[in-house]
Amino acid sequence: MASSTAAVLAACTSTDESADQTSDEPNIEGRVIDAHVHIWTSDTEKYPLHSNYKKEDMDPATFTAEELFGHCRASGVNRINLIQMSFYHTDHSYMLDMMEKHPDNFVGTGVLPDVLDEKSQDPAEMMVELSAKRCYAFRVRGGYRRQDLEQPHWMSHPKWDKMFETGAEHNLALSFLMNPGDMSEVGRMCGKHPDTPVIIDHLARIGANESVKDEQVDELCGLAKHKNIQVKVGAFYALGDATPPYTDLLPMIERVVDAYGPDRCMWESDCPFQVQDPHTYDDSVALIRDHADFLSASDKEKILVTTAETFFFNR
Ligand SMILES: [Zn+2]
Repeated sequence: MASSTAAVLAACTSTDESADQTSDEPNIEGRVIDAHVHIWTSDTEKYPLHSNYKKEDMDPATFTAEELFGHCRASGVNRINLIQMSFYHTDHSYMLDMMEKHPDNFVGTGVLPDVLDEKSQDPAEMMVELSAKRCYAFRVRGGYRRQDLEQPHWMSHPKWDKMFETGAEHNLALSFLMNPGDMSEVGRMCGKHPDTPVIIDHLARIGANESVKDEQVDELCGLAKHKNIQVKVGAFYALGDATPPYTDLLPMIERVVDAYGPDRCMWESDCPFQVQDPHTYDDSVALIRDHADFLSASDKEKILVTTAETFFFNR
């Protein structure tokens, strides 16, 4: 009896070990989702730029859907959340046309009219309208770029409350392009609207043009108490040393993943900026896939695939 129990235990142990060995490799082959890419075309006849922009502002001059595929497919990335490019303001034609052309590959994040713009469509109404065309998040700018809004409560405008309410009602995210100084106001609004999905882009740009500051990472981790905040982990080309393989960013990423859990973190490249020399697309994927040793295979699968898949693709 005792020996057969021992044999069973031994068998179980060896099965567990072999299971662990296979699970050391994350199940991400061909499944990785890029949560943040901008595309644009040099065809400004068909897709005119907003009056604030000139053709010379487009740098690189072009980054079409096809050019994106040329970079991402080699890294096993076939699904992408496109982010409306500022050049087009709220004219989403190019992004929506590409989403229609490649429905299995793309969903979108729209840009909304400004809360102070009384002449344009109501931003909350536009959220609902664009969600029918598979835009499930909306990019909004933090107060650091908006000195015309009341500081520090730059979201103290009734249109912001309506956008948060609409997000909660329709499971649409407000996706913040923000700086560390904007975190407290995002926290205030998430406390007021706890059911609204919120995405913080680019790790709140902690370490943009400077070294990563621990107290800012503390604040970002503190926001994790708001259960509907998710974080995009990427734009590595711009943060900290901003030099591949970007391993100086791993301590920040480890803390953020610890605070939020891997199912609230999604990897993003922020192309085309991630593919400007000396940076490559795979450098960005590789930081999570190959260098983040503190992540289990399952953590990597969540950050590289399932977090974004759940919110953007499995709806
Ligand atoms: Zn971007």
